[in-house]
Amino acid sequence: MLSRRHLLAAIVAVLVAGEPAAAQERLKVLATFSILGDLVKNVGGDRVEVAALVGPDSDAHVYAPSPADARKIADAKVVVTNGLGFEGWMSRLVRASGSKAPIIVATNGITVRKAAGARGDADPHAWQSAANVKVYVANIRDALTAADPAGRELFQANAAAYIAKLDGLDAEIKSAVAAIPVDRRRIISGHDAFGYFQEAYGIEFIAPQGVSTEAEPSARDVARIITQIRQLKIPAVFLENVSDPRLMQRVAQETGARIGGKLYSDALTSNKGDAPTYLDLMRHNARELIAALAH
Ligand code: ZN
Repeated sequence: MLSRRHLLAAIVAVLVAGEPAAAQERLKVLATFSILGDLVKNVGGDRVEVAALVGPDSDAHVYAPSPADARKIADAKVVVTNGLGFEGWMSRLVRASGSKAPIIVATNGITVRKAAGARGDADPHAWQSAANVKVYVANIRDALTAADPAGRELFQANAAAYIAKLDGLDAEIKSAVAAIPVDRRRIISGHDAFGYFQEAYGIEFIAPQGVSTEAEPSARDVARIITQIRQLKIPAVFLENVSDPRLMQRVAQETGARIGGKLYSDALTSNKGDAPTYLDLMRHNARELIAALAH
C-alpha cells in the first residue's frame, strides 16, 4: 500500500513528467508559408511554437519580406522552406538575418516535375499531392528531432498519425476521381499550381488559351476560351479571376460547361474560410472538382 505521502509524490512525479512543453521553452520553428506552418504544427504539437512568414490568404510568389521577417528568422531554431524556387526571396532574407538555424527543404526526396511552360524550371507546388506531403512530414519530423531530441517520440507519433491521415486523404481523392468517366476528367483553369495534383489524381488542368494567368480575361479572351471548351469538349471551367459574372454565364450558356467554384493552391484561408488546414484545402478542392465533373 502506498502511504498518502508516497501517493502525493507519485502524482507530482506524473504531473511533472507529463507536463506539456508549453511551460518549458518551446522550440521556435519558422515556416515560410501557411501550408508548411500547418504541417509543422501537426508534427510538432505542443513542443513547438510555429509561425509562418507568409500567412493565410497571401501569395508567397510575390511576397516582399520586411526587416521584421529577418528578425523572425534570427529568432527561429529551425526554418522550414518548400524549396524548388518557391521562396525566391528567402536566401537574401536568411543572409540578412544572420541566422545559424538549420534551413530545412521540406521537398527533399520528392520526384520533382517541371513547371508548365518554358525554361524547364522545377514546379514548386509539390504539396498538391498528398503522397508528396508524406515526404514533407518525414523531413519535418527529422528536423524537429535533430533540434529537440527529447521530443523524438512525440514527433514520431504525431508524424505517423498525420501520415495515416494523408494516406486516407489520398485514397479518398483517388476513389472520388475514379467515379468520374475518364473523358470528363478535364477542366480549364487559370491556376498553374495543379501539375502535381494532375499527376497524382488524373484530373487534367488545361490553361485557357492565349490568356495570361495574371490579368483578368477580357470579353475577347472569354470568346477564345469558349471556342477552346467546345473544341476540346471540356466539361467544367474554373476561372476565378473573371470577376464579371455575365462573362461566365455566357461561357456556361454557349458551351454547356459547368462553372466551378474557388480552388485553393498556395495558401490556407483563415479559420473562417474553406481551407484553414492542409487537409481541408485538399478536400475542398477535390469536392469542387468532383462536383463540377460528375454527371
Ligand atoms: Zn503558385
